[in-house]
Amino acid sequence: MNKDFGKIAVIGTGPGDTDHLSKKALDAVKDAEVVIGYSSYLKQIGDILSENQEKMPFNMKDEIKRCEAAVKKSLEGKTVALVSGGDAGIYGMSGLLLEIIEKESLVGKVPVEFIPGIPAFCAVSSAVGAPITNDFCVISLSNLLTPWKDIEKRLRAASAGDFVIIIYNPKSMKRKEELTIAKNILLENIEHDRPAAIVKAVTRPDEEIVITTLENIDNFDIVTMNTTVIVGSSNTYVNDLYMITKRGYGNKYDLNKKINY
Ligand code: SAH
Repeated sequence: MNKDFGKIAVIGTGPGDTDHLSKKALDAVKDAEVVIGYSSYLKQIGDILSENQEKMPFNMKDEIKRCEAAVKKSLEGKTVALVSGGDAGIYGMSGLLLEIIEKESLVGKVPVEFIPGIPAFCAVSSAVGAPITNDFCVISLSNLLTPWKDIEKRLRAASAGDFVIIIYNPKSMKRKEELTIAKNILLENIEHDRPAAIVKAVTRPDEEIVITTLENIDNFDIVTMNTTVIVGSSNTYVNDLYMITKRGYGNKYDLNKKINY
């Protein structure tokens, strides 16, 4: 490593509030001379930033510019925090940063550290109980970078495979119908009353949660670009309070025996 290059810490900020930021992420943000990220993520972590740090907020679709700015600042010898929501490696900035470092022939020269964050799907799952105790998959409905036909293929494969299906990016300003199209594809393999959860802005002040069924997932106005939808597997059920996917203990052990108090 060249001593003159500043370290880039790629940080996942978690689902929203700074309570869900790890100690390591917190320390890396505090150590950074320059903090780079999407403007609303910088706002979310505003209370842990200090006045003498340089802040570089960017617009939503400026991911390439953010990574280039991080590399430039590193070459100037500055310590950088490049922040992404949730975990930076999950639909986040980590991969793009590495591609740009490679394109610039700087692999092994720019020091990079990836600091994991709590992905939104973990926080969402925790908010409704225990829906992802067994095999699950995450599918984003955003066709900005992935062709829609691939998204349809993945929805069909996931529902045929009886996964718990987590849907990211169910809606955006431009995409309004995708969740209904996705629902109709899932209904080819899954019964209409399969339990589903819709969670908006988990851990944030505007958090909202609805437990419903697959046939109704597109009937709620809390579905926004900050919402995650979970469709259960054939082992998922709901009780008065929680959404639960049976891990399989009941097939192996007798779970009906009462505890002796
Ligand atoms: N890197 C993030 C994912 C970014 S993709 C992660 O690790 O989870 C953006 C999508 O994540 C949103 O469209 C939404 O579906 C989901 N998401 C992000 N934050 C969320 C939150 N606080 N509550 C519910 N869903 C959220």
